[in-house]
Amino acid sequence: MITIVGKAVSRGAAFGKIRFLGKQENSGQAVSVGTDDPCAEWDRFSAAGKAAVLQLKRLEEQAAASAGKSAAEMFQVQQALVCDPYFCSQVKDNIFGHGMAAANAVTAAAEAFGQLLAQTGDDRFSSRREDLSDAAKRICGILGGNAEDSDIPEETDACIICADDLSPAQTALLDKKKTLAFVTRKGSAYSHTAILARSMEIPAIVGTGGSLLEKYDGCFAAVDAFDGRLIISPDGISIGVINEKLREHLERKQLERALIGKENITADGRRIEILANAACAEDVELAVRNDAGGIGLFRSEFLFMERDSLPGEEEQFCIYKEAAQRLCGKPLVIRAADLGADKVCGLLGGEQEENPALGKRGIRLLLERTDIFAVQLRAVLRASAYGNVSVMFPMVTSLWELKRAKSLLFQLKEELAAQRVPFDKNIPVGIMIETPAAAITSDILAQQADFFSIGTNDLTQYVLAADRSNHRLDGYDSGRHKAVMRLIGFTAENAKKSGIPCCICGELAADGEVTAELIRMGAGRLSVPPADVLTIRKAVREANITERYDYKNENKTYRFRS
Ligand code: PEP
Ligand code: MG
Repeated sequence: MITIVGKAVSRGAAFGKIRFLGKQENSGQAVSVGTDDPCAEWDRFSAAGKAAVLQLKRLEEQAAASAGKSAAEMFQVQQALVCDPYFCSQVKDNIFGHGMAAANAVTAAAEAFGQLLAQTGDDRFSSRREDLSDAAKRICGILGGNAEDSDIPEETDACIICADDLSPAQTALLDKKKTLAFVTRKGSAYSHTAILARSMEIPAIVGTGGSLLEKYDGCFAAVDAFDGRLIISPDGISIGVINEKLREHLERKQLERALIGKENITADGRRIEILANAACAEDVELAVRNDAGGIGLFRSEFLFMERDSLPGEEEQFCIYKEAAQRLCGKPLVIRAADLGADKVCGLLGGEQEENPALGKRGIRLLLERTDIFAVQLRAVLRASAYGNVSVMFPMVTSLWELKRAKSLLFQLKEELAAQRVPFDKNIPVGIMIETPAAAITSDILAQQADFFSIGTNDLTQYVLAADRSNHRLDGYDSGRHKAVMRLIGFTAENAKKSGIPCCICGELAADGEVTAELIRMGAGRLSVPPADVLTIRKAVREANITERYDYKNENKTYRFRS
């Protein structure tokens, strides 16, 4: 029995076989560099190419079933790239002309083809470089003897996914039915990967470091995502202990279900709104089932990731409209695409940044790419005719950004009105308060915004200078830090003075131990992962606003961590 310790970021437990993702890269490197038998190498490449296409076809089907058609597109593109005549002729040339072994010929051909795509200067082509590199790695993995698919296996048995790291896009693609849990060497509690795991209700442990070894692939293991432990070959006692924790957890969740239909009123009579955060239609559904008061944060950027073309106005309109209608008049706050940093959209091209979290992300990117911004705003405006829709802008630091975004919105409203397209003329326009600059100047911003939504995840990372994706900064990244709490209080006070609502939509809103303090500071709305709506309803109902929060506890671990 071996115990590997990490951070539990999405509570739950699982027992099953480990599937280690990303093994193919190593096995691909194990093949020889040159060859004396080019014909044999060409045959090996041809067979591996065919196997890769079959794997990709299967992944396309899986992705379509679990995350929708658009998410499946990248696997379609990869199939086309594997069979691309230029790519194949390059591989042939490398094998026959330069005496390379198949795997090296593939890698070199992919590099050359990738450069060619980049030189076109066309975003649609250059964004395919990543797909090309993935496809090449897949072929190399097969050539290196990894005949099996290294992605999420198709076998009907679900498994525990282990990996060095998972990107937010990869996490969004996980098939919930086949993923018992995931465990990664890297990652942190406030990364988008962890946030998605909580939304999808997949038990997850991150930040195990190097003790998570590929050799555990195929081993039976137990995941204790209450205390952050992965146990390889667990004994009966460990299984019993984890099962007991799971039983208690499920019992608590069951008890919370009795709160469905109950009001969010504090012990001293204050009414609070509890909404949910969502990234897709499934999250909206879960939010409705958990009796959320609406969607306080729709992370629209996930519609832009891991796909072959940008989502058009019609596609976005349908998604927003369906969500608005599903909520039957309850609020739907659509955040304009907060792309950049770890939420990568290859289709946007642009320069590689040294510090993407401090780079062109959120509103900065949208104001640069007004073509994309305008398409999204038109879709949001059109959807506003079908429900209680608001729009908000991410990563604002200055008033001019808000003014410029609003002026684009105004222009689009005029266009729609001229075209007699229905929309809500008074659609509320809010901003995320997630940079220190926005919090500190919230009195000024409040004059131009209809509401605030405090993004404590980014606010914490920027205030505490602690990269939210860096697993080595555990303990440095607490939203309970005095500095963050003071800025929340300051922002809420400014919102109150201007008479606008103030929501908290970062993960801190789901920290039941500070619920009373957040309300006391003026947060009338909390937006939390769908699975936490009832937990926070319970915390609200027990909250006594007259009691003050004890700042000495600021580094105490979060509810979802232990
Ligand atoms: C935040 O920063 O707190 C937030 C809600 O936005 P995201 O986590 O998507 O960056
Ligand atoms: Mg943010």
